[in-house]
Amino acid sequence: MNPTLVLVGRPNVGKSTLFNRLTRTRDALVADMPGLTRDRHYGIGRLGPRPYFVVDTGGLEPAAKVGILAHMARQADQAIAEADALLFLVDGRSGITPQDKEIANRLRRTGRPVHLVINKGEGINQVIASADFHELGFGQGSVISASHGDGVGDLLDEVLGAF
Ligand code: GDP
Ligand code: MG
Repeated sequence: MNPTLVLVGRPNVGKSTLFNRLTRTRDALVADMPGLTRDRHYGIGRLGPRPYFVVDTGGLEPAAKVGILAHMARQADQAIAEADALLFLVDGRSGITPQDKEIANRLRRTGRPVHLVINKGEGINQVIASADFHELGFGQGSVISASHGDGVGDLLDEVLGAF
């Protein structure tokens, strides 16, 4: 069974950028999966010979409701419930925000494995960034740059190594 990684986090932390990086060279494979091809929120990545599924929850959110928790309703909830691992993205440049804390509490209640991903990490001090986000309760996390690619391979090794 291929593991499913679900990308979660407040708007603008880089979920779609990471999704595109993980899935963009996999078009042929995605084309073999009819149910997935038409939905840009679902894709397939590959680590070595092994495929895995990726879900970008941004955009699975209802548009006009108030509050970050409303953002995580319905389809996103379903994706989260079915996740083998949740990749919880935060913005290493802005630091921790109240929305991050709300999402952290919400994710904790799902009981799914959560991996903290500190994005926009190019050129920042990784030790300081990890210390800042440690308060979320998911350890030191992985510092990556979704747009440049730094740390993404190590992140996949760590997360997918468990399956
Ligand atoms: P989403 O709302 O969580 O899907 O975030 P997006 O993927 O749309 O990214 C939001 C903004 O952050 C865009 O302007 C991206 O180009 C930028 N961004 C994403 N990843 C990185 C990164 O690793 N470093 C930097 N500096 N910017 C990034
Ligand atoms: Mg997005």
